Amino acid sequence: MKVLVNAGPWLAVPPPGYGGIENVVATLVPALRERGVQVVLASVGSSTLEVDELISVFDDGRFTELQKPYNQVMGIAHAHQARVVAELRARDDIDLVHDHVEVVGPAVLSALGGPPVLHTLHWDLHKHPAFYGAFPTGIAVNGVSESQLARAPDALRAASFGAVHLASPLADRDLRVERGEHLVVMGRICALKGQHVAARVCQKLGLPLVLAGPVSGRNSAAELDVVVQNPYHPLHSHPDVRYHLDQVSRYLDGELVRWVGAVGGADRDQLYASARAALFPIQWDEPGGTAVVEALALGVPPVGLRRGCLPEIIDHGRTGFLADSEEELAEWVLRVDELDPEECRREARRRFSPSVMAERYLELYERATTR
Ligand code: UDP
Repeated sequence: MKVLVNAGPWLAVPPPGYGGIENVVATLVPALRERGVQVVLASVGSSTLEVDELISVFDDGRFTELQKPYNQVMGIAHAHQARVVAELRARDDIDLVHDHVEVVGPAVLSALGGPPVLHTLHWDLHKHPAFYGAFPTGIAVNGVSESQLARAPDALRAASFGAVHLASPLADRDLRVERGEHLVVMGRICALKGQHVAARVCQKLGLPLVLAGPVSGRNSAAELDVVVQNPYHPLHSHPDVRYHLDQVSRYLDGELVRWVGAVGGADRDQLYASARAALFPIQWDEPGGTAVVEALALGVPPVGLRRGCLPEIIDHGRTGFLADSEEELAEWVLRVDELDPEECRREARRRFSPSVMAERYLELYERATTR
């Protein structure tokens, strides 16, 4: 079977640091290839993932351009999509398209009349009812959690092939490093991820907290400073930049609560694996929760608010804690040492390994190609 996996033009696969969809693709593709699937990856030229073929328009990821005016963003998305469409028109050896690019992908691919398409929904489907309500019906779709699909418009939920949970290669690696004292929040710095709540809780409890993640594509304090110091910078008023400035930076005392910018590769693994617990004080219905799965895989108990996909991933009292309020979150944080890291690792190996995810996708590929 030959599958064209469309990962989009925003970041390389695997991503150098932060990256949601690109991480999912980097986790799935090797496990598919181990099972004999040939993969043509549509991404950017700097992608280093081992595949059978790479197609691209752009040499490097255009992530920071997502902040540009709408028509420019769409221009990038369309240029990438046009390359995918040209490829599909020019050849007849692709059995299925596994699409991860929401903006123009599904509509264009559905109209193309080429190979069957499976589109994986990555976002919170409640947010743009008009967009998701009009989702093309000619293609198969799947979600990344039951809770995500439960919030989808009726027609989309009814047409979907169900949910495939996200996975992490860390589930197979058994990475063991010395446990530190710090708690960690791993993710984009933005109001949805709720870093300010984690900071408030840890400051109150006197526990060290490390916040890791980019602010609107800025990977370090120095990069962010360029934006903050220049009132004419296009990102100056970006909600994530304002969030960092107005709600997070007040807790950054350099000792107890620290922001280390975006971390990638071995540095990310070391920082994450040595944490006492991973906090998820989410302020939205997190659709997939890669970072939660990664915490389990590393034997770092996740502690979060009971929202979105978290109750599907965390078994309260066994593999992590779920709280219904900030006060309760603080109480559970104090009890993290009661959780067994081995139980977290076992759960990740059993439910969130790349093999488990690939097997599930192979079932859906079969369904999409035979329907
Ligand atoms: N991540 C990273 N470095 C960072 C912050 C995040 O590598 O500094 C990774 C994180 O480990 C996870 C992904 O980025 O693999 C974020 O995925 P998640 O689903 O948690 O968040 P979202 O896709 O909503 O941004």
